[in-house]
Amino acid sequence: MIYLGEQKEALQNYSNEITCWLKIKLWGKHSVANPHGHNCGNELCKTCSKPLKIKSDLNPDFVGCFTQRNIEYIIASKPDELLLIEEVIKRMFTGRGYDENDFKEECKKLFVKAGYENYFYKNLNYQLAQWLDIHTCTYCNRQYILVMRKTNGEKGMVPQFDHWFTKSKHPLLALSFYNLIPSCSICNSSIKSTATLNLEDHLHPYIDTGISKSFRFSYLAKSPSEYEVICKKYDPSGLKAQNTIDILETKLLYKGHSKKELQDLIDLRYKYSDNYLDTLLNKTFENLEVSKSDKYRLIFGIEIDESNYHKRPFSKFKKDIVDELIRTSKRV
Ligand SMILES: [Zn+2]
Ligand SMILES: [Zn+2]
Repeated sequence: MIYLGEQKEALQNYSNEITCWLKIKLWGKHSVANPHGHNCGNELCKTCSKPLKIKSDLNPDFVGCFTQRNIEYIIASKPDELLLIEEVIKRMFTGRGYDENDFKEECKKLFVKAGYENYFYKNLNYQLAQWLDIHTCTYCNRQYILVMRKTNGEKGMVPQFDHWFTKSKHPLLALSFYNLIPSCSICNSSIKSTATLNLEDHLHPYIDTGISKSFRFSYLAKSPSEYEVICKKYDPSGLKAQNTIDILETKLLYKGHSKKELQDLIDLRYKYSDNYLDTLLNKTFENLEVSKSDKYRLIFGIEIDESNYHKRPFSKFKKDIVDELIRTSKRV
C-alpha cells in the first residue's frame, strides 16, 4: 500500500461537484415552485447546470436526516470521522421508527445505486482520477492506473475506485472522498472484494503517513537458483502493517514476480563475478552529474522518493530489494 497524501485540491474539486449532486437529489433544484431546492450560487457549477432532478423515491424521513453541513461531512471527512457521521445519521433515522436495514436500503438507493454506480461512473470517475493524479495502484504498486481518453473524447482507460469501507456494509460512504481508493482491477475486484478492513487493525492510504516504512520487501532462497519474494513488517509490534500486507495479499501478488523482476535483480548481483548492481549504480554515469533518483529511474525504472513511489510500478519493491542486495556481500 502507498500513502496518498491529503490531496486537498482533489478533495475540494470533487466535493464541489458531488455535494451539489446530492443536494439536488435530496431537495430538488431551486425554483419559484421549489424555494427550498438547491442552488450553489456558482453560475459555472458543472453539476447545477445539468438537467438533474430530485430523487423522488426516497423515504421523506430519510431525506429529513440531511442538512447542508452533514452532506459536506459525509463527502469530505477523514475516515475515522466518517464512521461517526454514519452513526449520527443512522440514529437520527432509526429514531424515527425505522430499523438498520431500512437505513441501509435508503442509503443504497441514493449513495450506491444512483450515486456511485450511475452518476459517479458516468460523470466523475475520469475527473477524480485526473485530480488525484496517482499513477499506479494504491494497494499493490504493480499496475499502472493511468487516465487516458480516446482522441474522440470517449472513454479509454481509468483506474477502478475501491471502497475502503465496503459499500455493502457502509452504503452511506459510497461517495466519500477518503473512501474512494484508486486501484487496479485485481486489487479492487479479486482481493478487496472479499476483504473487510477496519481502522483499528489496518493501515489507511489517506491517514497513515508511515506506510512505506512499516514494511519491506525481501527474498528467500528456495534453492541455489530459486528465489521467492517475501515481505516483512519493519517493527515487531507493527501489527497493522502485518494485517494490511496479509489482507491485501501483497506477498501473493509479488510472489508472481519472483522469477521475473526479483530474478533480474538477483542476477545483476550474483550471476557474474562482478557486482553489476554496484557497477550500474556507481560507474554508468561516472562522469555525469546524475542524481541518485535519476539513476534509479534510468537503470531500474523506479522512483525512490516515497512520495513518488506511485509514479512507477514496483518502486518500493525494487528499491527494497536493491538496497538489500547492495548491503549483503554474500549469497544467501
Ligand atoms: Zn452547484
Ligand atoms: Zn493493485
